[in-house]
Amino acid sequence: MEETAQQDLFFLELRQKLQSGLLFIRSDVVRDDADVKIESKQESILSVQTPDRSYRVKLTPGVSLVETSCQKSPGDAPHGAHFRLRLKVERHTEAPCSVIGQLRVNVKYSFLCQSCGSMVLQDRSFGRVLPLPNGNWNSLVDDWCCHPDPFANRTLLPRDGDCLLGDTFLLLARDSGCEQTLVREEKPPRKASPAERRVTVSCRSCSAALAEEVAAGALKFYITEISVKPREDGECDITRLSLVSEPRQRFLERTLAARLVELSSAQSIFRFSIQTPDDRAVLLLWLLNTDALVASFPDAAARGDSFISAEELHPGEHQSCRAAQAVKVLYILCSDSKLKDVVDAWEKDISVHPLPLPQSSCEELQKLLMSSTSRLPTFLRCMNSYQVAYLRM
Ligand SMILES: [Zn+2]
Repeated sequence: MEETAQQDLFFLELRQKLQSGLLFIRSDVVRDDADVKIESKQESILSVQTPDRSYRVKLTPGVSLVETSCQKSPGDAPHGAHFRLRLKVERHTEAPCSVIGQLRVNVKYSFLCQSCGSMVLQDRSFGRVLPLPNGNWNSLVDDWCCHPDPFANRTLLPRDGDCLLGDTFLLLARDSGCEQTLVREEKPPRKASPAERRVTVSCRSCSAALAEEVAAGALKFYITEISVKPREDGECDITRLSLVSEPRQRFLERTLAARLVELSSAQSIFRFSIQTPDDRAVLLLWLLNTDALVASFPDAAARGDSFISAEELHPGEHQSCRAAQAVKVLYILCSDSKLKDVVDAWEKDISVHPLPLPQSSCEELQKLLMSSTSRLPTFLRCMNSYQVAYLRM
């Protein structure tokens, strides 16, 4: 990875639980730490003055700066100016719920294709919203039962009016409306399991693959492929709903970050294996912190790349952005042959939680993480064999 090819000019990470933070400014922006003035004139605004430019970061309400101290950058090479911040955190920002955490009984929901925003299922309400056993369920049954697993090879299927919640997907019953919005396509079986039937279900408008048919009449929608909106009173205009779709990368990042936080706080799991639907691990992810607020200003040359990019309010002399809630993760790519030992160890470890995602989303996530890493200051990019990245909520 090239040293400063994409690295942000300015990177800020605040930790709400530790009430502390780190600010890094690239060496070509400031040569001397003494040239930098950091202050908080207004509540929840952090202002950083360098000889050429000033930067303003809007913090979340209840977070303010107490003091700053300059710190030598780790390592021998002069990387840039590096400061420690002490914060006062009066109220912690709660992590937003993922769609799986939000679904309730007897509320009407619309399901939209995330790629094109068109309506896929309209006004669905559920009499039952139930969690499915989690990903390691079968291995746990094997460990606890002295007889063969009575649930092996049995799939739990939704009836009409059911919404079954997996770790990364929803199981819903097909209805007559699906004919107009979805297209079914039978795929040849995989070599590894020739008896398995594979039917993908895609959006009729844009052909994006949205779901799999797990049995006749039962659809498995991955949360990375659809957006779900509760129906508000008076909202019936489909075109209006289709305008709310957001850029793909940002949606994927937000959806996964919120789901990782939910799974870790509900089940105390911190290590995840991101897998394709046929159980092939693509990357291993270690959730490190869930209380971070991050902000960064990309290099002008890299500004077209929208990842972690600042919401720029006043271009030019004075740049502003909003600090975003984020999770910090460590990851390794399973394709990295140098890390085969680590990958093998994780694969044997029952505490590692499998998270299935469509193949295309696994690849997008990989790109997203690598892009996040490349924008960090060099000394923050890795920890032992693992790469470091942030996913904003
Ligand atoms: Zn679509």
